[in-house]
Amino acid sequence: MTRTTRRFALAAAAAAATALILAGCAGDPGELGGDEAEPTVAPEATFEAGTTMARLADAGTITIGTKFDQPLFGLIGPSGTPEGFDVEIGKIIAGQLGIEPDNIEWVETVSANREPFIENGQVDLVVATYTINDKRKEVVSFAGPYYLAGQSILVLADNDTIKSEDDLVGQNVCSVTGSTPAAKLQEIGAVPFLTDTYSNCLEPLRSGQVVAVSTDNVILAGLSAQNPGEFKVVGEPFTEEPYGIGVKLDDTDFRMWINDVLEQSYEDGTYEAAWEKTAGQELPFVEPPAVDRY
Ligand code: GLU
Repeated sequence: MTRTTRRFALAAAAAAATALILAGCAGDPGELGGDEAEPTVAPEATFEAGTTMARLADAGTITIGTKFDQPLFGLIGPSGTPEGFDVEIGKIIAGQLGIEPDNIEWVETVSANREPFIENGQVDLVVATYTINDKRKEVVSFAGPYYLAGQSILVLADNDTIKSEDDLVGQNVCSVTGSTPAAKLQEIGAVPFLTDTYSNCLEPLRSGQVVAVSTDNVILAGLSAQNPGEFKVVGEPFTEEPYGIGVKLDDTDFRMWINDVLEQSYEDGTYEAAWEKTAGQELPFVEPPAVDRY
């Protein structure tokens, strides 16, 4: 489709959405479009020439890095495309560039390759349970935070000995290479057993090779819900993991624009709707943290 016809198609879709609203769906912006509403696609998104926003809007497509094996935030579903809260955040951003969800190319980013994928341009942005921290800010930039998670502990359902991070000292604990929880395990004196994705920690936990898996509470909640009765999350979160959207280090315009999009989604209900249809199936909604326009 040419840019012009695509715009026409988008305008038609917007008109159809408006008709639905007029037909009686008004009042809850998060529910626009009736069923499992996709985030709004801005029909007339135009941007200053030379910006990343203009490049992506003109291309009509965007490449987004996310997790493929984390229930609630980013998990490949039966459709073959990922589903989850991070995926919905990606769709909200794409929508404001005039890009339909079907025109998003999803790329699996595991914890260790997020920075290189952004630096090399293999993805336009990363939304992948990605903690904002100073070390990472030396090589990439972050919009957000859009969610505040915290490191926690997953054990077998019948384990009564591990109740907090203090009980992990000297114990084999599974986490993922290149993640903040892996570094924290080292710091507290646990013996990190590292693999590439959190789902690959489940077999070592089942077999007793490790006594626990440790990463963000929301990731562990997803893994636990996916395997009813098998595991449990114990203790209180013992770190702060503010989730950001990773972009190229020097792309301040794009970062600030994404911050605008996030703030708008908090206002118009699309953020809350994105939560409710994904992570909200298992976890309570909490108000998002304030974005940090550093
Ligand atoms: N939020 C942490 C991090 O970015 C852990 C989750 C993950 O590895 O994706 O390292």
